[in-house]
Amino acid sequence: MIFPCSLQPIICSLALCPKKLFFGEVLFYLMNSSHRIERYLSWIAIPGLIRYVVLFNALVFLLHLMAPGYESMLTLNREAILHGEVWRLVTWIFIPETMRPFWVFFALLFLWFLGEGLEESIGAFRTTLFYFSGIIGCTVVALIFGSYGANTFLNLSLLYAFATLHPDYKVLFLFVIPMRIGWLALLSAILTAIGSLAQSTAVQAALIVTFLNYFLYFWPFLILKWKNKKLLAQKKQEPPAEALHHCATCHRTEHTNSDLHFRVTANGLEYCTEHLPVATN
Ligand SMILES: [Zn+2]
Repeated sequence: MIFPCSLQPIICSLALCPKKLFFGEVLFYLMNSSHRIERYLSWIAIPGLIRYVVLFNALVFLLHLMAPGYESMLTLNREAILHGEVWRLVTWIFIPETMRPFWVFFALLFLWFLGEGLEESIGAFRTTLFYFSGIIGCTVVALIFGSYGANTFLNLSLLYAFATLHPDYKVLFLFVIPMRIGWLALLSAILTAIGSLAQSTAVQAALIVTFLNYFLYFWPFLILKWKNKKLLAQKKQEPPAEALHHCATCHRTEHTNSDLHFRVTANGLEYCTEHLPVATN
């Protein structure tokens, strides 16, 4: 594990709140902007991709229990790859971030949850594209700057992606403190960035590539969100338009109850149909 401090909040937040996700909240820009790319590359979509990644992680963990240390055959080791061990270009993805039985269970459960959530939100194609470009970025960085070990950053990018789409989704930090996943991701990003300062260039480069990959896909959404927030704040500042109709008895208006009908009586006062005085002869 490269950054125990940054992983802790993620791994510790695995006891998820049973709140249902609003997956209908699918992003407009993601629906539209990558249409052209999708037309040519739709064949790369792997439905349930992260599920397979999790299953292979579990398999590697089980094999590790039988033959501890064997996973060193799977790492993204530049020298070994140059000596013909080309399977390492792919197998590094399947090494769990931790080999401690208790933590690996929750880490993989969380990864599964993130993968499912992401795919339900942006679809199999975009999830695959995002994950694959992350893999390629991390692999290229490792080939240039040397090995840095685990797939920590790749998994972190899934957290950032999910947290961007569903920032208000609540998880239990340290299993007890309810926390929005948006804050958790931000905290994790900051801790990871600080942690990387004391690490090798390879680690720092991998982190930068992970962030770049995230921004490549999510900057339009971040901008959209920021603009929406600004618009909402502006709307709040504007004084509410004056009501045209106003019931003299209950004081409801067409603003407070849009389905109400109003009548003006002979004395010039206006009432809703419920409080309209009965005409007396
Ligand atoms: Zn009324």
